[in-house]
Amino acid sequence: MKEQKVKNIGVDVKAPKKACEDRHCPFHGGLKLRGRILTGTVVAAKVLKTATVERIRKQYLPKYNRFEKRTSKVRVHNPLCINAKEGDVVKLMESRPISKTKRFVIIENTSEQE
Ligand SMILES: [Zn+2]
Repeated sequence: MKEQKVKNIGVDVKAPKKACEDRHCPFHGGLKLRGRILTGTVVAAKVLKTATVERIRKQYLPKYNRFEKRTSKVRVHNPLCINAKEGDVVKLMESRPISKTKRFVIIENTSEQE
């Protein structure tokens, strides 16, 4: 693989160490990012270049004076150079729709060790 230039995506994240040929990669491909940034945990990464990320939020219940956990799942693009696995905590950024269900891309794997 040739030496690739890593694009600056305009967000303060560590660029992946690996290179890739993925055209939907925000660092090495042509994908432009805009919109929201989210964090979540990868719950499934079985399909190539796709992952499911779960986000937990707390909903207040006035009747019981307590919080209940509510979760939502997002299908995200998992670029080959990041290749997040199940259980990883990742940062997502919104992009244009990449497929029927994917509108977010993983931009950083925060649980990756050096
Ligand atoms: Zn890449």
